[in-house]
Amino acid sequence: MKAWRVEKHGGPEVLKYSEIPTPPCGPMQVRVEVEAVGLNHLDLWVQKGVPGHKFPLPITPGCDISGKIAEFGPGAEQALRGMKLGSPVLVNPGVSCGHCPVCLSGFDPICKSYGILGEHQDGGCAESCVVPVANIIARPEGISAVDGASLAIPFITAWSMLTRKAQLQASETILIHAGGSGVSVAAIQMAKLLGATVITTVGNDEKAEKARELGADHVINYKATPFRAEVKKILIEIGRSGCEVVMDHVGADTFQDSLKCLSWGGRLVTCGATSGSQIEVDLKAVFFKNLSILGSTMGSKSDFHRIVQLVAEKKLRPVVDTVYSMLELPQALTHLESRTAFGKIVLAV
Ligand code: ZN
Repeated sequence: MKAWRVEKHGGPEVLKYSEIPTPPCGPMQVRVEVEAVGLNHLDLWVQKGVPGHKFPLPITPGCDISGKIAEFGPGAEQALRGMKLGSPVLVNPGVSCGHCPVCLSGFDPICKSYGILGEHQDGGCAESCVVPVANIIARPEGISAVDGASLAIPFITAWSMLTRKAQLQASETILIHAGGSGVSVAAIQMAKLLGATVITTVGNDEKAEKARELGADHVINYKATPFRAEVKKILIEIGRSGCEVVMDHVGADTFQDSLKCLSWGGRLVTCGATSGSQIEVDLKAVFFKNLSILGSTMGSKSDFHRIVQLVAEKKLRPVVDTVYSMLELPQALTHLESRTAFGKIVLAV
């Protein structure tokens, strides 16, 4: 089969569309014929490499997969009752052992063998990929392959950050950074669904308009004015002393001011550091103000079922910026890196 391969790290030129052996479909596994795959910053890290982190090369990138069942391994058809060859599906990108205490507790991202398709094992930038039955979700009618491929990583991540980690409550105020990014596009909608007031930051006025359309109550162009001063003004306007929750995946460029935007007892939740991960924190503020700093990666497998249900009910909506063909992965990743997109960049067959 054809698949995009990263054999060594580097610029877009290291991405090769190659002929590789079709992987076997083992017991309790399913082969998914890929129709669309959503791209994430993770795919850029896999392409470029991360100092101190070892990816299993060569690897096929692509985590958020939408497609059709093309083959059942032994026992898989019985396990996925009601599904047949050709059934439309979405793939949960988190793969875990399924039998350790944390997997059995339901929150498998802390399983010792947890990995992500496209990062720890071959992903979806290919004609097909093989995944465990636990990762298969039926794609409801009304969710297209492209829309379905825009959901998994950003929506699961945002849902777990807001509901499980920060436990955002109705009437609380949340600051969500980089409102046009995949995870923030999901978080803005989820925070509104949970009844919170949303302040978000974007890099230009066009994105500001789109963030408002998604439901953000206050939008700051952080390139025009420093976000902390603007947040302060908005908080005075709405009669609040601070944000109960800040969602920060920017890291070095924003983290210190994010902490200063928190109310006493506020929670900062982080799932990434696209601008750098080394920061200095004044711990006095953290303990005097009773702040919580919460780390978060992905969410549970059942979170994705809930999210797909909410999208099918039109309570959350996929936001796709651009669809490229499967042959255009290098161009699509260059677009992702430019940070000009609002929502997801998706490859479709
Ligand atoms: Zn486990």
